[in-house]
Amino acid sequence: MLDPDCDPETLAIHGDGRGETTDVGPPIHLSSTYRADSAEAFEQIASATRPERFYSRYGNPTVARVERLVAGLEGCEAALLCASGMGAISTTVLSLVSAGDHVVAQRSHYMGTSRLLAELLPRFGVAHTLVDQEDTAAFAAAIRPETRLMVLETPSNPVLAVTDLAAVAALARSRGIVTVADNTFASPINQRPRALGVDLVVHSATKYLGGHSDLVAGIVCGDRARIDAIWSQAIVLGACSNGFEAFLLLRGLRTLPLRVQRQNETALSLARYLSTHPRVTRVHYPGLESHPGHDLATRQMRGFGGVLSFEHRDGAAGARSFVERLRLATNAVSLGGVETLVAHVGSMWEDGLDQERHAAMTPGLVRLAVGLEHPDDLRRDLASALG
Ligand SMILES: *Cc1c(COP(=O)(O)O)cnc(C)c1O
Repeated sequence: MLDPDCDPETLAIHGDGRGETTDVGPPIHLSSTYRADSAEAFEQIASATRPERFYSRYGNPTVARVERLVAGLEGCEAALLCASGMGAISTTVLSLVSAGDHVVAQRSHYMGTSRLLAELLPRFGVAHTLVDQEDTAAFAAAIRPETRLMVLETPSNPVLAVTDLAAVAALARSRGIVTVADNTFASPINQRPRALGVDLVVHSATKYLGGHSDLVAGIVCGDRARIDAIWSQAIVLGACSNGFEAFLLLRGLRTLPLRVQRQNETALSLARYLSTHPRVTRVHYPGLESHPGHDLATRQMRGFGGVLSFEHRDGAAGARSFVERLRLATNAVSLGGVETLVAHVGSMWEDGLDQERHAAMTPGLVRLAVGLEHPDDLRRDLASALG
């Protein structure tokens, strides 16, 4: 057995276990169904909780390896791999709420999460209240007798606002409310919400966990009983992953600690560089002393992540021409891959919702998700595109 206290770098290599064969690289299990060798074995497997070899919507040996590994990285007992980050988030939320329940969530969430709360849940009689995540007292004030769930996400898109996970988790626990934290931006290398008292941790594994912009997946981690309960709903909702995606994810996960450490360093150095540039009026990065969440981030995170955003002095026109003039950084949505991705925030979200969500969302806002190119080359690219 692997020592669960060993370093994330070691967990990323060995945390999935050795498997039942002598393969050193993990085999990809593509079979949709599994043979039973006796009537008794069939009966047993058909009624098991989370069987690895029964029917692949219920479980899959390659998928199970990813689940063990990511659960270990998050300091959790168990995990459930899903078809996407949104698959993990919606399956988790839908399995926790019923008609008449109330959810407290943040004004600033990933767009899909905001839409789940605003468009889908009300159709099933689930209400919600959105709060400013930087104001812990606002979470307390939003609680109603029927509040069942709090949805958290930190740092959040696009201005990297920080939620006090320990304070909000303690508040929720004292009132019998379940907490779910989206840990995508931080990754388990920089932040472990479970250790801060959060019940369930979700990820878009499409981002840092996969790390190579070549797969779509999501995962939810927590105590075994909670994850088993989510699984029993997940097999009905059908947001399951598969052996091939799981294999790619395992391959990416081996280098997660190294990639994230490097992305932390590069993002901090680029954030510092941009702060001094005359065409940049503001930089949002929790690693900068000027960021409103800096002290809190220093307490609850081990690194500040690879995503930053900044305001171009010349507004939307300046931001758009900056993005077009970049040579190395690629204009695309998503984050967490080996290549640096950049996007003008106002062009991604034109539905007008967002100004409401955060006062800091200005027309010249640009999001930069740093990859693994050499920081000097990236700095030169930013310099020449800023002009
Ligand atoms: C991308 C993302 C999601 C959604 O994940 P998908 O894998 O695209 O479904 C959820 N939360 C955050 C913070 C994300 O960045």
